[in-house]
Amino acid sequence: MHCPFCRHTDSRVMDSRTTDDGSSIRRRRQCPECGRRFTTIETASLTVTKRSGANEPFSRSKVLVGVRKACQGRPVTEDDLAILAQRVEECIRQQGQAEVEAHEVGLAILGPLRELDEVAYLRFASVYQAFDSLEDFEGAITLLRAGRDATGTEPEPRARPQTQAGMPPG
Ligand SMILES: [Zn+2]
Repeated sequence: MHCPFCRHTDSRVMDSRTTDDGSSIRRRRQCPECGRRFTTIETASLTVTKRSGANEPFSRSKVLVGVRKACQGRPVTEDDLAILAQRVEECIRQQGQAEVEAHEVGLAILGPLRELDEVAYLRFASVYQAFDSLEDFEGAITLLRAGRDATGTEPEPRARPQTQAGMPPG
C-alpha cells in the first residue's frame, strides 16, 4: 500500500480491526518514510454483471437510484433507504459469490422493499419485472395479500371470515 502523503511504496500495519458487522477490516498504517499514519478499509470485492455483459463494482448508491424513484411521495426516509441498501448488500454477500448478475441485485431488493413500503414495492416490481398488463399488477397484489395473511402483519385488520389455513392432510 502506497503512502498517500509521500507516495512511498510501502507502509506498515499498526493495528487491524474487523468492523462490527464483519463485512470489512480497518487497518491503521504508518509510512516508514515520512512517519505519517493513515487508515485503509478492506472489503471483499463484489462485481455486478450487467445484461450488456459489462462488469462494475457493486454499489449501494446504484441500488438506491432505482429504489428512491419507486419511493417518491411515500413515507420512506433516507435512513430507511440506507438500511435497505445495507440489507441488499448483506443478502448478496451471503451468497458467497464474487460476481452476481444485475437481476440478482434486483431480486434482493424486492424482499426488503416489500417490508418497507408495499406501494413502492409494486412500482419497483412493475419496472423491474416489466409488468405490461393489469393482470401482472393483480398477480403481484394477490401475492402481497397472501404474504400478509401468512405473516399476520396486515396493518388494518378488518372483520372478515377467517380462512382455514394449515388443515392437516387427509
Ligand atoms: Zn509517507
